[in-house]
Amino acid sequence: MKPCKPNQIRNPETNRCVLKTGKIGRELLGKKKSLSPKPCKSGQIRNPKTNRCVSKTGKIGRELLGMSEEEVIIVVPKKDGEDEIIIVNPGKKSPSSKIKKILTEEFDILNNEWLDGEYKLIWGDRKCALGVCKFGKKEIHISKHFFGSPIEIMKDTLRHEIAHALAWKYDKNMSHDTVWKKWAVKLGANPKSCTKAGVPDTSKASYALRHKDTKEVYQYFYKKPAQRRFATVKYTHIRGKKAHTFGKLEIVKL
Ligand SMILES: [Zn+2]
Repeated sequence: MKPCKPNQIRNPETNRCVLKTGKIGRELLGKKKSLSPKPCKSGQIRNPKTNRCVSKTGKIGRELLGMSEEEVIIVVPKKDGEDEIIIVNPGKKSPSSKIKKILTEEFDILNNEWLDGEYKLIWGDRKCALGVCKFGKKEIHISKHFFGSPIEIMKDTLRHEIAHALAWKYDKNMSHDTVWKKWAVKLGANPKSCTKAGVPDTSKASYALRHKDTKEVYQYFYKKPAQRRFATVKYTHIRGKKAHTFGKLEIVKL
């Protein structure tokens, strides 16, 4: 095959040389330029500065996701390719300002629209329930112990509790029956009464990072962690709990 002249480009369909400045030539060059980069793997995010994929849990990935140093991210790969990101904060019991802000904004909108702004949002301390509605005090409590839950579940819990407030305000009802469900549907909440929904579903996890002695789990993995995680786990600790966890961590198959 004859090489093309410098001002030409080969059209792969016809194998002929065409002018770079011609219609086909320009198209061929344009296509080449606009070839979109390969999508990042699950658990990765594109660094816009370098255009490279980096791990979401790595230093740059965490920065890109706006995570603070104390937060641990659990990436749960979903079937549709989108990752669900669970943020846990092993050292702290209070929600990070970011999550707090998202939930407060959501609450303010719903409270003003549906409850005449009568209710207050409280960061609760319950360990057994994600959300609680106190009709007498007109308070909606979101438990800080479930702070590691996915944000969508926390938002749904807000709506769940506001549906209780509405069922009480208008129907003097305080159950999870059809009256509550009616309000839940109106608010766009999942009309299921189970407050356990706030607990991340770890039944599908295949590995866990835990304390060798107490067996306390700090992180769940939904696929086998990279080999280096196994190799380096003995040198790592949970932030804020160094004395208790350094050299005491292990990754186990569930
Ligand atoms: Zn409820």
